Amino acid sequence: KSGFVAIIGRPNVGKSTLMNQIIGQKIAIMSDKPQTTRNKIHGVYTSGSGQIVFLDTPGIHKPTSKLGDYMSKVAHGTLGEVDAVMFLVDVADGIGGGDRYIIEQLKHVTTPVFLVLNKIDLVQPEKLFEVIVQYKDLYSFAEVVPVSALKGNNVTTLLEQIIRYL
Ligand code: GDP
Ligand code: MG
Repeated sequence: KSGFVAIIGRPNVGKSTLMNQIIGQKIAIMSDKPQTTRNKIHGVYTSGSGQIVFLDTPGIHKPTSKLGDYMSKVAHGTLGEVDAVMFLVDVADGIGGGDRYIIEQLKHVTTPVFLVLNKIDLVQPEKLFEVIVQYKDLYSFAEVVPVSALKGNNVTTLLEQIIRYL
């Protein structure tokens, strides 16, 4: 089993950290500054059960400039070309305008979307459950998976769940 997976999410939710945790190399640029990742960067994860080719897309966001507009187009184009979408959110921050905007864009996507709740190392279980309920109200996700990209918690489970959809 193999396929292409796009990682999307607003800036600073941990997309680059997750890519680096999965691929085990510093292939994506990491920064606290939004929009550092300007290109689609491919990384390949291989296990006994299958293979995932990852696209680390520029963040989908409300375009505020020509560059932002271009980056949104690249990100939206990517979503139509992949076999699954990983929508990464920051569980400590909760749902923000940027997340709601992305969910609106996802309504045009027929690809299975995984909601990946990142930074679980920063919150209590009660907060995690509350955020899960809020997101599930907004969209019908294929799967909902809590992880810590930084610590690596539940990342292997996430990958194996994705492979089942390929
Ligand atoms: P991106 O903009 O979505 O690519 O986000 P980055 O990967 O650059 O991460 C933004 C910030 O969040 C960095 O300071 C990361 O160290 C931090 N971060 C990412 N994942 C986690 C996590 O699981 N737990 C914690 N505590 N911090 C994280
Ligand atoms: Mg990044």
